[in-house]
Amino acid sequence: MPLNVLFAATEDRWSTYEPTLLAAFRDAGLDARLALDIPPQDVDYIVYAPNSELQDFTPYTRTKAVLNLWAGVEAIVGNKTLTQPLARMVDPGMTRSMTEWVTGHVLRHHLGMDRHILDQSGAWEPVVPPLAEERRVCILGLGALGTSVARTLVSLGFDVSGWSRSPKSIPGIDTFHGDTGLDAELCRAEILVLLLPDTPATENTLDARRLSLMPKGAFIINPGRGPLIDDDALIGALDNGSIAHATLDVFRVEPLPVEHPFWAHPRITVTPHIAAETRARTASEVIAENIRRGEAGEPFVNLVDRERGY
Ligand code: NAP
Repeated sequence: MPLNVLFAATEDRWSTYEPTLLAAFRDAGLDARLALDIPPQDVDYIVYAPNSELQDFTPYTRTKAVLNLWAGVEAIVGNKTLTQPLARMVDPGMTRSMTEWVTGHVLRHHLGMDRHILDQSGAWEPVVPPLAEERRVCILGLGALGTSVARTLVSLGFDVSGWSRSPKSIPGIDTFHGDTGLDAELCRAEILVLLLPDTPATENTLDARRLSLMPKGAFIINPGRGPLIDDDALIGALDNGSIAHATLDVFRVEPLPVEHPFWAHPRITVTPHIAAETRARTASEVIAENIRRGEAGEPFVNLVDRERGY
């Protein structure tokens, strides 16, 4: 009997994922059928996106795992009907995408590119940018994405530090954890990158007090999640000049409403949640590998800790 894999994402994702998932199942030696509609009691695995119509997992009595297509799980992790193991997406394609996006925005601010891109009026005012080794970049969150970003910035010569919940040791990176460590590090973070998950413990990680600790003229880059930053405190810090610029890819409400002050703020760059899309081919391979593991009696990878919320 083939395995029944339910595709529970929005239907517009089907044409992208159907061929890549079927190819990945084949390559993993899985005898599996994939469909948009399978009687709940017959479903073995669910490939899932939290914006799917499927929100009640109670009838999925034989489902062995829910395999999320997104890295962020804040919209599903608290669902009380979900008792099956939940795996989040750790996708090499997404990781490369995030690494490229953050590196580009770090370099923009580090090199002061806006000065010349936005002003071609003829003013000849050379401002020599520092070398990467003279620039302290701090990454909040040293998971799949934060670690890759940190390693790439180190390879370019940046002076990189990183914060996580648990202690870490990553060559070339000053690592720290705990609230006290964060306050001390913020005092020297010239460019701050937020790659934390959205959990009760991370909400407003960057509040007015912490923003005030940062060096004058610091830059903030947030491709993590909107609630990590107190919006009003950020606008206050940008208005009084203590923070030079914020590049924001994620927001408390998405799409960011047109009337939101972030859009018009001269020191904010808004990007529409495009830092790191899940890439169908590589993500399908990750999903197939987890199904293979489930069928072989091996532990699933990338399991979400429901208590911690990520
Ligand atoms: P991950 O592997 O789960 O890493 C999360 C990191 O945050 C870990 O290092 C974790 O510490 C740390 N952390 C969690 N709670 C913390 C706390 N209370 N204090 C200090 N550190 C804490 O996640 P990921 O794959 O790197 O993804 C990170 C986030 O990026 C996702 O949750 C999602 O919100 C966002 N994202 C955005 C996009 C986009 O397009 N904008 C795309 C993908 C993902 P430990 O290592 O100690 O557990």
